[in-house]
Amino acid sequence: MSGFDLVFVVDWSASAVPSPERPSADAIWLARAERDGCTTFYFRTRAACMAWLEDAFTEARRRDQRVLAGFDFPFGYPRGFAERVTGSRDPLALWDWLARAIEDREDNSNNRFEVAAALNAMFPDHLPFWGRPAHLDLPDLSPRKDRAHYDERLAERRAIETVIPRAQPCWKLYTTGSVGSQALLGIARLNGLRARFAGDLSVWPFEKPHAPIVLAEIYPSLLSAEVRAATGENDIKDEVQVRLLARRLKALSDTSGLADLFDAPDIASEEAWMLGVGRSGPALGKADSGGPAVEAVSPLPRLANDCFALPPGIRWTPVNEALALLRERLVPVVGTETLPLERADGRILAADLAARRANPPGANAAVDGYGFTHASLAPGAQDLPLAAGRAAAGGPFAGTVPPGHALRILTGALLPEGVDTVVLQEDCEVSGGRVRFAALPKPGANTRRAGEDVAAGAAVLGVGHRLRPPDLALLAAVGHAAVPVFRPLRVGVLSTGDELAPPGSTQDAARTYDANRPMLLALAARWGCTAVDLGHVGDDRAALRDRLDHAARAADVVLTSGGASAGDEDHVSALLKETGSLTSWRIALKPGRPLALGLWEGCPVFGLPGNPVAALVCALVFARPALSVLGGGAWNAPAGFEVPADFEKRKKAGRREYLRARLVVGRAAVFASEGSGRISGLSWAEGLVELPEEAMTVRPGDPVRFLPYAAFGI
Ligand code: AMP
Ligand code: MG
Repeated sequence: MSGFDLVFVVDWSASAVPSPERPSADAIWLARAERDGCTTFYFRTRAACMAWLEDAFTEARRRDQRVLAGFDFPFGYPRGFAERVTGSRDPLALWDWLARAIEDREDNSNNRFEVAAALNAMFPDHLPFWGRPAHLDLPDLSPRKDRAHYDERLAERRAIETVIPRAQPCWKLYTTGSVGSQALLGIARLNGLRARFAGDLSVWPFEKPHAPIVLAEIYPSLLSAEVRAATGENDIKDEVQVRLLARRLKALSDTSGLADLFDAPDIASEEAWMLGVGRSGPALGKADSGGPAVEAVSPLPRLANDCFALPPGIRWTPVNEALALLRERLVPVVGTETLPLERADGRILAADLAARRANPPGANAAVDGYGFTHASLAPGAQDLPLAAGRAAAGGPFAGTVPPGHALRILTGALLPEGVDTVVLQEDCEVSGGRVRFAALPKPGANTRRAGEDVAAGAAVLGVGHRLRPPDLALLAAVGHAAVPVFRPLRVGVLSTGDELAPPGSTQDAARTYDANRPMLLALAARWGCTAVDLGHVGDDRAALRDRLDHAARAADVVLTSGGASAGDEDHVSALLKETGSLTSWRIALKPGRPLALGLWEGCPVFGLPGNPVAALVCALVFARPALSVLGGGAWNAPAGFEVPADFEKRKKAGRREYLRARLVVGRAAVFASEGSGRISGLSWAEGLVELPEEAMTVRPGDPVRFLPYAAFGI
């Protein structure tokens, strides 16, 4: 059986009213896991969730992807129930029966209690369903368990619920858990999917799990210990739970644990079974104790939908305010891994690290020379007898140097007992078994104290620090062979516009060669990210939508260029607007037209201007620090410095300006033309001159702030 490309896990809800607008517990949570990651979704109603799933399944079929979808409610009832209701032994006949009987409206209002009462009427000796609001007038359905009776003809529990005794039976309809209501409403809904995807969908374990879409019952509490461990103070447990389970199922699918997953006893074909609970107990929950090797997962924070919102009522937002907002709202969106030092350069530390031992670990000689105890030297003495032997780095002197004696000692050697001072060999003369000093050193000269550089346990580098080659030396010196780091941020780069063509591909003057994509991909790579080339799409909203869908999976953040304004062909902003997360950033900045920022399926999108000069400036000023934070790093403002201007310029108040500039004998010269189409100026430049928002007149010699490209990491 081949694995699944997509795994959906749904935490279902039997609520009779829409769940709160703000994502909350006890509502429908859905996780979608695939090769590149896992995304969670929140639905206020069952109808909304089903419509979404239908779209997702349709899309998966179109892409020929295999789907596993797990739902946390019973797919069946104890032995005998289905047949007595429908006259058929096929449990899916009961699904059809329930789908006809249940009315579940767009607003979550439904008739589940009435249907349960009707079912109870068919089992007068048992009245198996129980639990309802007191005010409902349903004589066959008791508010409490008091009238329910279970025996060998109709059991209280399915076989699976004896294997997993914590699982609630399917008869309880009301208050905590209300598994019974979830099953009635859930089965009716899933039967709709069965009809919609007939021929392409199977319901395990009633049907073999070989169809392109497989529905299965799951029990998220199998992972309860991990869920507890992974749920932070501000997390919603339901969300963490679906995410962990979806990831685990996807990982099992990838590591071919599928046979275990779909293992079930014969009774399952009538009563259903929980995925991952084999004949011999859970295969799914035991990944920690010798089960399939599955990567440890921890939930990643999500960005708030309004994370790019700007303060209302402001026409042009100053650059610093926009930057402050980004800084405040962005959080890391990547997972972590542990890498050996040899592979850690350029990565961002995911934990604070302390010295595992002191540097240096022991007192040692700083030079090649002769060592002795300073206090043992008689006043006025200029020479000492040499003790036999020597101390070298890695070859310490085992004995004690007697007072009044000197020992040959080499750089890095541990100071032996009886040595606290070393005389540089160039200041000594050795003859006749004695060493004679040209000049007498101070006590302790030419030695290094243990821990004088770094004490054991001292903090060395902090979370968010991007490792550079010297850092690797430090980490090695204090005992770290491997370090926890963030996974590289995947930065997708997409060009938009009908006019674009690959460089050199045409001589048509109406076409523009795509200059932004190679530039932005290279920027992402220089910034330590994994650059993902998302290609080019024309001014076609449907195509762009498809590409963004793909981008949201293939990348952690997307940089688009072009189409970010509010014109007819500005489809990036139009689409982001549809998601409700768009903010058109009108930044008081030159060059740079509005930036479009938003989230596409949870993936942040930076819609940069199409003009390459503006695209570069906006990428350097806004995208660079944002990408750093999204990737787990620090907010990295460029470090500039003041130099005398080598140009003259008057500017009006209002916008901050960045001029293409280079240093010519210590003065900032600017490119001959400020035209925003002058790409050659970008390449001519070695940095940018930043002019503040205020009106100003710059004359040659006046101080201006120069930001070398190197300050932007390029
Ligand atoms: P737009 O923001 O889509 O209105 O584009 C503004 C200008 O930038 C237009 O002249 C576009 O042709 C140009 N442009 C857009 N994308 C690119 C690109 N990837 N490379 C070069 N020029 C571009
Ligand atoms: Mg365009």
